[in-house]
Amino acid sequence: MPIQILQDEVIAQIAAGEVIERPASVVKELVENALDAGAQHVRIAINGSGQRLIRVSDDGMGITADEVGLAFARHATSKLLTADDLPRIETLGFRGEALASIAAVSRVNLTTRHHNEAKGTTIRLEGGRVLDQRAVGAPAGTVLAVENLFFNTPARLKFLKAENTEKRQIASIVSRYAMAYSHVRFILEQDGREVFRANGTGQLADVLVAALGLDTFKNMIEIASESTSQAGETHIHVHGYTSLPSVQRTDRSRITLFINGRWVQDAGLSYAIVQAYHTFLMKGRYPVAVLMVSLPTD
Ligand code: ADP
Ligand code: MG
Repeated sequence: MPIQILQDEVIAQIAAGEVIERPASVVKELVENALDAGAQHVRIAINGSGQRLIRVSDDGMGITADEVGLAFARHATSKLLTADDLPRIETLGFRGEALASIAAVSRVNLTTRHHNEAKGTTIRLEGGRVLDQRAVGAPAGTVLAVENLFFNTPARLKFLKAENTEKRQIASIVSRYAMAYSHVRFILEQDGREVFRANGTGQLADVLVAALGLDTFKNMIEIASESTSQAGETHIHVHGYTSLPSVQRTDRSRITLFINGRWVQDAGLSYAIVQAYHTFLMKGRYPVAVLMVSLPTD
């Protein structure tokens, strides 16, 4: 074959594959957008594995009528302007790829009203193409429904994990954001049934009871770093909960870490936590821990 430049639709589908691997990736991106929009309430509804329907509703700032179409363009973001902004990013998103990627591989319905505007907008896209856009009455905030995920990428569709695996993934993503944003109310519904709720009390403890269960939480203690930084030193703050030595897990999967509200998996940090128990834990045993690390963005 001669060398050719790919068509835009093909480029979009390939790029989408890198951002959106599975239904849980859609949930992650939409929840992050809701949080970045300053939402206090986030409701997530899923049918089946999420392949057929994922709907995320928020009461965040909404999108202006002028900008609704642009939100679905690739590399379109309101969160970053120049490379100088990169070390100062405080939002979860900044790449401007999520909505474009999701729209490229599904049917999307978005209804939004910016909090400063009187009228809302609804827009419908299929495989990245806009089918319809019009003004509607709507509450301030955004509702984004993603239907028939991967309908135009049969290979992705074929390799989706079992429904229960996806459901579990989605539930653990939602509970992690609830931990990091304890002042936000989260509700997750699967097939019309509420399976997780965090009431947005601002207390991590309340979210941990909901996410881990009271039995586990009762065996955890609160930890908080003392503020010892002096002028010129980097200020790093750590707080959260970790289990008593009586709780012993056989793998480190229950160590949950956040840096500046972003969930991370980091072998070095996990190792540090396990080492902190010194001889209190047997070799090959791990605690349940949820730790929030905050540090300057740069
Ligand atoms: P990013 O989050 O990296 O900026 P996205 O593709 O996820 O990129 O979103 C594109 C833009 O659309 C965002 O920068 C934001 O301005 C707007 N947007 C997306 N979702 C929402 C939402 N739920 N509420 C308000 N604005 C949103
Ligand atoms: Mg985003």
